[in-house]
Amino acid sequence: MTDLTTLTLAEARAALANKEFTAVELADAHLSAIERARALNAFVVETPDKARAMAKAADVRIGKREARPLEGIPIAVKDLFCTAGVATSAGSHILDRFVPPYESTVTANLWRDGAVLIGKTNNDEFAMGSSNETSYHGPVISPWRRRGANIQLVPGGSSGGSAAAVAACLAPGATGTDTGGSIRQPAAFTGIVGLKPTYGRCSRWGIVAFASSLDQAGPFARSVRDAAILLASMAGEDPKDTTSVERPVPDYEQAIGRSVRDMRIGIPKEYRVDGMPAEIEALWANGADWLKAAGAEIVEVSLPHTKYALPAYYIVAPAEASSNLARYDGVRYGLRVPGADVTEMYEKTRAAGFGKEVRRRIMIGTYVLSAGYYDAYYLRAQKVRTLIKRDFETNFESGIHAMLTPTTPSAAFGVGEKSSGDPVEMYLNDVFTVTVNMAGLPGISVPAGLDRNGLPLGLQLIGRPFDEESLFSLGHVLERAAGRFSPERWW
Ligand code: GLN
Repeated sequence: MTDLTTLTLAEARAALANKEFTAVELADAHLSAIERARALNAFVVETPDKARAMAKAADVRIGKREARPLEGIPIAVKDLFCTAGVATSAGSHILDRFVPPYESTVTANLWRDGAVLIGKTNNDEFAMGSSNETSYHGPVISPWRRRGANIQLVPGGSSGGSAAAVAACLAPGATGTDTGGSIRQPAAFTGIVGLKPTYGRCSRWGIVAFASSLDQAGPFARSVRDAAILLASMAGEDPKDTTSVERPVPDYEQAIGRSVRDMRIGIPKEYRVDGMPAEIEALWANGADWLKAAGAEIVEVSLPHTKYALPAYYIVAPAEASSNLARYDGVRYGLRVPGADVTEMYEKTRAAGFGKEVRRRIMIGTYVLSAGYYDAYYLRAQKVRTLIKRDFETNFESGIHAMLTPTTPSAAFGVGEKSSGDPVEMYLNDVFTVTVNMAGLPGISVPAGLDRNGLPLGLQLIGRPFDEESLFSLGHVLERAAGRFSPERWW
């Protein structure tokens, strides 16, 4: 039998329907791949018993010709999604014994469509990070290595475990969340596809909140088609999240192969930043050429407020985080460190429960929201956010369908390389992705090539609100031209 773990989701779906193997066999193949790949530290919880039980039920459905869209497909879930009866830690010590009594809407949608949970993936603590080094469970190691070197590289973050799992063929698909780039950046670093939907496309209910006005769930997969299949199940209105939008969910898979002729693609000149490696420039130009060859029109555009996006993000996101994280007080969830009185208990619990990066964000957030600084920082950042959004709107109104940019300013870096010094070094990784969250737009990262060290690089497409379909059509054009990339197995 061929290696079941290297099949794409669409291939596995077809083979299951043809009874070439069973969902239990498919789950077992992935579960043993996960066992062999523990060196990557991609999973914080493995759920073999649950996976086999869900797969068995899927086989019954398939046998009765009652298969649902994701029947029997193994899915890895970022440990930020609450899963009923399965520990959910958000990568934090403060939640490391938390077993949610409820299921997030996005994961519930996946199980409703027949998917099989194989485990929960590691992530930066409370999704704060770009390298997966802030997790209480330790860093995730990328399945990729520089050619001829065995230095450990980061998979990107914060959804690094999900990205590493999909890139290393431990799951054909996974969920992630993206507040400032946490799906697209790790997708780019690991050579896979990752999509952040329009704000409101997926319900945030049951996802551990980081910055509520920026957070969105989205899929990781090894092909654009697979990402489209997953989004169709994940998306949808949810009465439990008032920011989820009542809008029919298109059959996203239909967008694969659709013509992109006459689409106008903007190349924002402000994304050509100082010090950007020449190979990223070259890759970006290739991407434009590929879209042009498919009939799209390439236009240089301007998004003048781009340079303010990162500083404004690092006010808005910590502000919301400091408020969201106030609930971890040792009373209602997870860790409690006793103290002489309730105040001391709060202090001890939060000091012991939160890691350094989370504490930094809480302090920044509390500061920018405090009386006297609120207007100078928070209110100003909100105004800048409006300007960033308007930049995109102006372009979309003038007939631009999507933007093409690099996903990241560099390829993956080494573990420890950017986590010990100035935190801004790490924050700079998100310069091309945070704008999209600030504007609430959809964005996809598609693998587009390898750098001179043999590491994957991604291109980002940014779309109009709720036009994920165009991103899938355009992304598919890039994928066809660039090919697919997989790491050489060393683990
Ligand atoms: N890296 C960014 C941050 O640390 C974005 C994280 C995310 O998208 N969750 O805030």
